[in-house]
Amino acid sequence: MTQKLVLLGAGHAHVHVLKSLTLLAPQPFDEVAVTLISPYARQVYSGMLPGWVAGHYTLDECVIPLQPLAAKAGVAFHQTAASTIDFSNNVIRCEDGHTVPFDLLSIDTGPVANLSIVAGLAEQAIPIRPIEVFIESVEKLAGIITLRHQRGARTRVAFVGAGAGGVELALAMQHRFRDQNLGVTLISAADTLPGNVGPRLARIMRERGIAVLAGQAASGVSSAGVQLVSGAVVDADIVIAAPGTSAAAWPRQSGLVTDKDGFILVNDKLQSVSHANVFAAGDCATIEHQPRPRSGVYAVKAGPPLDDNLRRFLRGEPLRRYVPPSRSLNLISAGNKYAIGSWGSLGWEGSWVWQWKDAIDRRFIGKYSIDEARKEK
Ligand SMILES: Cc1cc2nc3c(=O)[nH]c(=O)nc-3n(C[C@H](O)[C@H](O)[C@H](O)COP(=O)(O)OP(=O)(O)OC[C@H]3O[C@@H](n4cnc5c(N)ncnc54)[C@H](O)[C@@H]3O)c2cc1C
Repeated sequence: MTQKLVLLGAGHAHVHVLKSLTLLAPQPFDEVAVTLISPYARQVYSGMLPGWVAGHYTLDECVIPLQPLAAKAGVAFHQTAASTIDFSNNVIRCEDGHTVPFDLLSIDTGPVANLSIVAGLAEQAIPIRPIEVFIESVEKLAGIITLRHQRGARTRVAFVGAGAGGVELALAMQHRFRDQNLGVTLISAADTLPGNVGPRLARIMRERGIAVLAGQAASGVSSAGVQLVSGAVVDADIVIAAPGTSAAAWPRQSGLVTDKDGFILVNDKLQSVSHANVFAAGDCATIEHQPRPRSGVYAVKAGPPLDDNLRRFLRGEPLRRYVPPSRSLNLISAGNKYAIGSWGSLGWEGSWVWQWKDAIDRRFIGKYSIDEARKEK
């Protein structure tokens, strides 16, 4: 009987699984029907998003088109989001009203923006996740900033949250609108900017005229700007929500065992600790006894072992252990084709670091381009 494998979400690990299926298409496995569920027809590569904001890339250069990749892999593509998993019937209930049955389910749906952390953030600010929503907003913002500049008005943008994503986007916006009278303020509850490169980032922010309010937690957002716990108010025309991420609610509500924060708990085979026919990887999952930072780098690294274990499960073979690397290379772009890199306690910066990051990012995205898919046909 045909087994049904569902890939839920088109995150970094799943695009690897899809790519690997393209090498076996049109019949990836004997007697296995594969379905991909994703709310968008393309997967935007977050590593290149700040480069798009800064004006270094077109959007097409930063996206993986899912439909052609799925088609090449012989995978059915269902464009919607899962709202819950019904384990009594082994079906995924989707936001478009459809149910999708599965025998084996793999989840790579990423994190969600933690907008409840500050009052008014969800209503008044532009979130950086979902990335597709952010992209639409940036396109509108560009028009507003330009218009205000033409009328002689300054535009004040405040970022709430100063994780790596927020920092990169703040620097990218400052660069893109550097001649359009844009003032950028970064509000950080933490005393220092992220990682061991915090002091370098703080210096670059200073040099670029970005105000960093470190150790200043936001308590509320309104149309006037951002209220701080200290009582001060940061006046802002535009507030961008970069508050860090949390787990989506539906995995825990569906009955999957999660860690204390709601991330799907998997064993060292990337298999759910509560449901043997469910695998999860990337930011939506926590590997039991092997916690790692939630980052695109770790999500990418999980692709090959996930792919291997899904195949093993379908063939009834023993699963393989996966030990994620204990540290990763972090490259943070500064918006002006300059970047900072770190590995453990080591740090570097320069234009050459940006060129290095650019090469890594282009190589990653290039693997999934339609042209590449055509070449391999
Ligand atoms: C601006 C920015 C820059 C970043 N730069 C870097 C970087 O340089 N290096 C780095 O390591 N990390 C970076 N990160 C962090 C990185 O984006 C995440 O850690 C990474 O995306 C996690 O990958 P993932 O595969 O788990 O999920 P994601 O990349 O988030 O992919 C999940 C997919 O699942 C889909 N999905 C979500 N919910 C559902 C649902 N209910 N049903 C179906 N599909 C669903 C989403 O639409 C998405 O397509 C950056 C983040 C941001 C915001």
